Amino acid sequence: MQYQGVLKKMATENLETVQYYLDMETDFLNMNQLLNKELEFHFITYECLSCGLEKEIYRQGFCKKCFFETAKAGDWIMRPELSKAHLGIEDRDLEYEKQAQLQPHIVYLANSSNVKVGVTRKNQVPTRWIDQGAHEAIEIVEVPNRYLAGITEVALKEHVADKTNWRKMLKNDIEDESLESWQEKLREFIPEEAKAYFIENNKETSINFPVEKYPLKPKSLNLKKQESYKGKLVGIKGQYFIFEDETVFNVRANEGLVVKIVVK
Ligand SMILES: [Zn+2]
Repeated sequence: MQYQGVLKKMATENLETVQYYLDMETDFLNMNQLLNKELEFHFITYECLSCGLEKEIYRQGFCKKCFFETAKAGDWIMRPELSKAHLGIEDRDLEYEKQAQLQPHIVYLANSSNVKVGVTRKNQVPTRWIDQGAHEAIEIVEVPNRYLAGITEVALKEHVADKTNWRKMLKNDIEDESLESWQEKLREFIPEEAKAYFIENNKETSINFPVEKYPLKPKSLNLKKQESYKGKLVGIKGQYFIFEDETVFNVRANEGLVVKIVVK
């Protein structure tokens, strides 16, 4: 069987084990069913996720022009505290920004290699946690817009990490933490404007990834350089495919690449 399409981050479902779906244009592949199969990946070309043109991808699946122009790549996406739609101030496209920013957001703690704080739209829970490869996570506050979430994250970053270590996450070099006690411990550092949105009596969510064998020394596949790769899929965690030879492939970091996948 072979499939071709532009890579976009996989859709997921948090069942007993996370289910992963890769959209390959004419087919919607449940990647869990491809575990323990030999897969071949071929790099074909680029396709910008915004303009659809065959242009080299710069960042986040966008060509350079789109990255600097599309409303979907404004600075407030990576830095929520820069959000201004609640003041009616436009960054690139106020209508888009109002829709994206003026909706419930969650500031959360997720543990993938260490406990870290993050921000997501409420409707992206638990998707965001799955994408990060977190085996446990908890909501701290639910606020009505992205700005409030952003300033809360900035304040909490002084007391907890905001980055994960992808190698540790993939090696499954992890420790269980009581995120309920972390949430309680961080409570006093929430900014005044967001304190009323603290979520009381919350319980952490556990996530189980479909991984049969964790790599000891994960090495990252650069499909653009290598052009093709063949390996046996032994796991999926976060947005990474894990192969038997310890090669790992970050689907999200390769958005916008058109690939052909051959299933042996
Ligand atoms: Zn483009």
